[in-house]
Amino acid sequence: MSATCTVKQRRNTCKKVKEGESHQNARKYGNKGLCHYGDLPEWQRDNDKIKSGYVRETGSFQKCLESLLYFHNETLNIYTHLIPSGTYLVLLMFFTDLVLIPKFPSTNMSDYIMINFYLLGAFLCLMCSSCFHCLKQHSEAHSDIWSKVDYMGIIVLISCSTVSLLYYGFHDYLFHFKVFTIAVVILGSCCAAFVLNDRFNAKNWRACRAAFFVLFGFSGIVPIFTGLVKFGVEESSKRVQLRFVLWEAFFYIGGAIIYGLRLPETLLPGKFDFVGHSHQIFHVLVVLGSLCHFRALIGSYFFLHTGISTSSLLNLKTI
Ligand SMILES: [Zn+2]
Repeated sequence: MSATCTVKQRRNTCKKVKEGESHQNARKYGNKGLCHYGDLPEWQRDNDKIKSGYVRETGSFQKCLESLLYFHNETLNIYTHLIPSGTYLVLLMFFTDLVLIPKFPSTNMSDYIMINFYLLGAFLCLMCSSCFHCLKQHSEAHSDIWSKVDYMGIIVLISCSTVSLLYYGFHDYLFHFKVFTIAVVILGSCCAAFVLNDRFNAKNWRACRAAFFVLFGFSGIVPIFTGLVKFGVEESSKRVQLRFVLWEAFFYIGGAIIYGLRLPETLLPGKFDFVGHSHQIFHVLVVLGSLCHFRALIGSYFFLHTGISTSSLLNLKTI
């Protein structure tokens, strides 16, 4: 009996400490009822190294949107992709028409489509990701749907990136362009079928998910290698601005590794709950990778239209 009382007392003490911490956090972060990992229902649990700052299940689309207005552990995940997504949308609407075409009247419909195709892919991917991080708190069913939307966005970005660069690599070898583009469409469709399968979203598939997208991204090595054999290193480097493509790969692979290993929160659990955890770093590296790709595309575009390959776009003002 006395032993039972002791256990009960301990439980009550623990509960009080936990409640005290929750109240402290609630005060600290705007009293929005943020909770600890241990308070989450099973479906919301994903990363036990992030201890606090969770938005409770809202059951409401409006409450999910309201979470944009206070700080929680998804806030930086949302805004690190929402702001660049908006920027890509502005570029999609104005960049080719207001910058490229006036500068280069030789811009043809293929250029126009390819640059905008990539900008559309970047916009969609980052917007899908922002929506996922904002709306997944709604309920388990909504979380599952938005998670799939998030993965589909990544597939769209990889596909748009690869096809747009294939155009500049093989613009005068349309057979190669068509074959590789069809391969991308087939691979992308297989990935989409895989992603839409519910098993893919299981927690224990995290490392597999990261590896899977890296492999899809890596399929771009085949056309790059083909280009190196066909045109040589120097010509290939100019055609697709290889230096920036390598930076892009570095950022994407680095991001996937950090995402897969959950660094740095695995080393110091609870210390990076709001700022600095692996998913946020992954997001920033994805944005940097996408910018490198955009830079590679614009460099390739300039090379195609001027025959000049330059490391600084500022030099192009003199052209
Ligand atoms: Zn994300």
